[in-house]
Amino acid sequence: MNIYLDNAATTPIFPEVVAKMNQFLHQDYGNPSSIHGAGREARRAVESAREQVARLVDCHPAQLVFTSSGTESIHHALLGAFLANPERRHIVTTAIEHHAVLQTCELLEHLGAEISYVRPRADCIVRCEDVLAELRPDTLLVSVMGVNNETGSIQPVVDLAARVKAQDSDVLVHSDFVQALPVFPVHLRALQIDYASFSAHKIHGPKGVGALYLANQKRWLPVLRGGNQERQRRGGTENVPGIVGFGAAAELLMDGFQNQYEHLRHVADAFWDMLSKIPGAYRNSPLDAAPTILNVGFRGVANDVLLMRLDLAGISASAGSACTAGSLQPSHVLEACDVDRHVLKEAVRFSFSSMTSEDEVVKAAEIIRDIVFSLRG
Ligand code: PLP
Repeated sequence: MNIYLDNAATTPIFPEVVAKMNQFLHQDYGNPSSIHGAGREARRAVESAREQVARLVDCHPAQLVFTSSGTESIHHALLGAFLANPERRHIVTTAIEHHAVLQTCELLEHLGAEISYVRPRADCIVRCEDVLAELRPDTLLVSVMGVNNETGSIQPVVDLAARVKAQDSDVLVHSDFVQALPVFPVHLRALQIDYASFSAHKIHGPKGVGALYLANQKRWLPVLRGGNQERQRRGGTENVPGIVGFGAAAELLMDGFQNQYEHLRHVADAFWDMLSKIPGAYRNSPLDAAPTILNVGFRGVANDVLLMRLDLAGISASAGSACTAGSLQPSHVLEACDVDRHVLKEAVRFSFSSMTSEDEVVKAAEIIRDIVFSLRG
């Protein structure tokens, strides 16, 4: 038996997506920069995928740059803005960002940036006024994620972007939307943000493909150079099968968003309903968190032991971000939310996708209950 409840780390790829990718691995393997027929076929596929992703996030296709990951997109956004605006050296972000943002900020600190880290309130949600209070005359950029990858807490990005621009229209805004796509419809056109980062493998697409939304190109410099690809915004031969897979996954999500959302909500609620009956169970995700992520703990049950037992029972879950798994570091997200010390040792993240069934979460909850009882002796 295998029950996969670690979809925030990555989602299983849809078979339809694999089928589309196969064509560009086997038959149509041309380089999109080549001018012969094989190259033109690959170029058509890349541009058609760009249109599919643009439709999902509601922007002009030319505003999207394909990258190798969400992490790479974030690097392009933050570094590109930093390089292009030497008169502004201050960046505001939050203490609960993914390490892709936090460690890019560390890199920028080495290059002379000053970073302010806004802490969330106890519900793991950052308040707009706390971000606005950090703005200074030399603030270059504000970077706040859409959905937190450890707790599923939804951050007020729409409101925040508008209020940042109202206070100082020259402050650039970036959002890490890597976990946001299955959670809320992203309408970039209606958002006052300059940059946004996306990743294919969180929406049943392939790993190693991302997209950067680049609305403000005037105040941005390309970081990865060496070719004219992506309109000189990101050098390097495009990952055509990966990009095609991203496009296919985007189209499937767009067509099925409402049904998938309702399914996720149903599955997440059914799971918590069962877990909450286990004595000493508590949730670290706010009640209005994304239905993709449920962070919980069981009083007196260490998360490393629980995860090991779950793995033996065929259930995949995690203690937090996949990038820090195995590091034995307490979650920086939960620390920033000021949780009690015991929570840091007990927190377990379960995460769902449209492929997670109700039967699976019911079975998983029964197994978790049995393991928790047996660990407590
Ligand atoms: N941002 C968030 C919120 C994430 O959850 C992740 C991946 O887990 C990333 C960024 C990095 O994306 P990628 O794995 O495509 O580099």
